[in-house]
Amino acid sequence: MSKINIETINTENTKLSSERIIELRNINEQYFIMNGKRKLYHILTYGCQMNEHDSEKIGGMLTSIGYEETDDSQNADLVIFNTCLIRENAELKVYGKLGEVKGLKRHKPDMIVAVCGCMMQKEELRQKLLKQFKFVDIIFGTNTIQELPGLIYDVEVNKKKSVDIIDNTELIYENMPKSRKFKYKALVNITYGCNNFCTYCVVPYVRGREKSRTPEEIINEVRALAFDGCKEITLLGQNVNSYGSNLENPFTFAELLYELNKIDGIERIRFMTSHPKDLTDDLIKAIKECNKVCNHVHLPIQAGSDDVLRRMNRKYTKDHYLNLVEKLKKEIPDIALTTDIIVGFPGETEEDFLETIDVVKKVQYDSAFTFLYSVREGTKAAEMEDQIPDDVKHERFNRLLDVLYPIVLDRNSQCIGNVYSVLVESVNNTSENSLTGRSEHFRLVHFKGNEELLGQIVNVKITNVKTFHMEGEIVEQ
Ligand code: SF4
Repeated sequence: MSKINIETINTENTKLSSERIIELRNINEQYFIMNGKRKLYHILTYGCQMNEHDSEKIGGMLTSIGYEETDDSQNADLVIFNTCLIRENAELKVYGKLGEVKGLKRHKPDMIVAVCGCMMQKEELRQKLLKQFKFVDIIFGTNTIQELPGLIYDVEVNKKKSVDIIDNTELIYENMPKSRKFKYKALVNITYGCNNFCTYCVVPYVRGREKSRTPEEIINEVRALAFDGCKEITLLGQNVNSYGSNLENPFTFAELLYELNKIDGIERIRFMTSHPKDLTDDLIKAIKECNKVCNHVHLPIQAGSDDVLRRMNRKYTKDHYLNLVEKLKKEIPDIALTTDIIVGFPGETEEDFLETIDVVKKVQYDSAFTFLYSVREGTKAAEMEDQIPDDVKHERFNRLLDVLYPIVLDRNSQCIGNVYSVLVESVNNTSENSLTGRSEHFRLVHFKGNEELLGQIVNVKITNVKTFHMEGEIVEQ
């Protein structure tokens, strides 16, 4: 008989009383006794790692009230859409999938459908959803994840639709249970929200202003992860470099790295995302000196032209960025650099675009996420004149890839014959190279090996490379 994992939901800061949690658990336990199986939940996660981590918290809460996860929405008693608003595409995908779930709900009227995440922080999109997808039972936002058990209670017991959104909050909810995807690696929030207001971005509006967790809370969480067998952590924040500036006792991101580097059991520390305007010399020194901090920095440039950067409100120039890159390469010669690039920002001229190409050539990135600019309602960029026609954006985008991919392949080629430590992350028994993992520099590596190596860090000699992955063989060190 599978037992409910009674991890504590910290109800101190939620509207949900512990009596109602217990009642909800009892309802789900009764269901289990009557049906011989637990109620099942399925989460569809769209967007970034921040959302992935929120889904782990949602899963943790659902486990603690008696649900089990399923990969298949057809079998689920509760389907949750954790939505993204960064690009129009992600929004359209949610509507398409909701349409499918509508058919499912017709056959299974007791199935609960919930929608949360960044899309639900926008009043117009909430209203659209309530109007067009009337079968949705629960809506909650990025600041009200902790209220989910109470919202389920309202639907199950009080038979009423539930909506719970807070626009902005100073509160940080600690000690939420989490249902982690991987035992050996974990995401750890260090900040929430963002203060930067890049003109194309909705994050400050939907996730609120930047709030840092205290170093003590982060260190305790990472210690607990290490105790649980976790080897690699990724510290998450919209701008990790400004971590700690708003704490009562200010603490820098560099100081945090030194503290986390001391924790036994943790072997690798990654972080995402670094804002170029806040990458300090102290931080570069910390990356260099902390042996567990991976030699990889994801440093979004977004555009190479100072004019475009100014209109994006990025608060740095091309020269500043290139100086940072030079410092990083000088201090940490084997640093891997990855980036984000937006093509076709309003007003981008051919000359502006060539500045972006120039940065790509000068930096020699190890990889890059490239995006076509897409209008996001409510942002300043959406109001700007000179929106770039789609055909121009696509043509520039293709030219960018024509420059970028050979550089990435060349960077990978330089790895042939070298040995890298790789954390084994997945097994694919249908492939000759059955194991896949990431090197310290965040490169994807495929190689032959036994599935018992899952979660281990092994040494792999690189024998062949492609643009998006490398191949190799395990060697003794
Ligand atoms: S730094 Fe800019 S792009 Fe990143 S989350 Fe903040 S506003 Fe958005």
